[in-house]
Amino acid sequence: GCDAAGVIAAIRSAAAVVDAHRDELVNLDREIGDADHGENLKRGFTAVVSKLDAAGDTPGAVLKVVASTLISTVGGAAGPLYGTAFLRAAAKLGTAVAVTPGSVVDALEAALEGVVARGKAEPGDKTMVDALTPAVAAARAAPGSVADVLRAAADAADQGARDTVPLVARKGRASYLGERSAGHMDPGARSTALLLRAFAEAAS
Ligand code: ADP
Ligand code: MG
Ligand code: MG
Repeated sequence: GCDAAGVIAAIRSAAAVVDAHRDELVNLDREIGDADHGENLKRGFTAVVSKLDAAGDTPGAVLKVVASTLISTVGGAAGPLYGTAFLRAAAKLGTAVAVTPGSVVDALEAALEGVVARGKAEPGDKTMVDALTPAVAAARAAPGSVADVLRAAADAADQGARDTVPLVARKGRASYLGERSAGHMDPGARSTALLLRAFAEAAS
């Protein structure tokens, strides 16, 4: 479903995926950061799930609750960045009672703009922006249903995350490692790809 109930179901799947991949994300962040990304997101999405029943009756209202909960519980770099992403997506969806393929593309683009405004990362800096940028482009180019749009976004984000492996980090903790950050996948790019995959599968 593309209404609030459908979005709530998609957020629940995202929380389950974060839970299932907690250790993987911690291990990626152990290589080039401080080994907390999986735990940060798990804490945040656990808190989000506890608020979903009263989250509201439009997709935008639900995503606003997701945003404020992530901002207040995730911490680190990713908390404010994902919080901003969901907040901008919520604002873009406004008070519409359901999402459409076009509004999903616009919401993804707004999310990316929010992450860039907040974190100032450019493509190639080895961050979540390297997953989200190709995801928005692929979503924009994908004809079809909400599920089709999200599947295209998830596929492109997977590739974008894999493409962070050889990059040298220029933002966040990983940038402290300089050249030694090369050879590892960026944990935030990986989590972005996982979230988009969860949304795509929930919509299918
Ligand atoms: P911290 O590094 O503070 O412990 P997390 O481990 O939760 O926070 O998140 C790290 C992830 O945040 C990185 O893998 C990267 O994708 C993302 N990130 C860090 N800084 C930025 C930034 N300036 N812009 C975009 N993404 C960033
Ligand atoms: Mg970390
Ligand atoms: Mg940290």
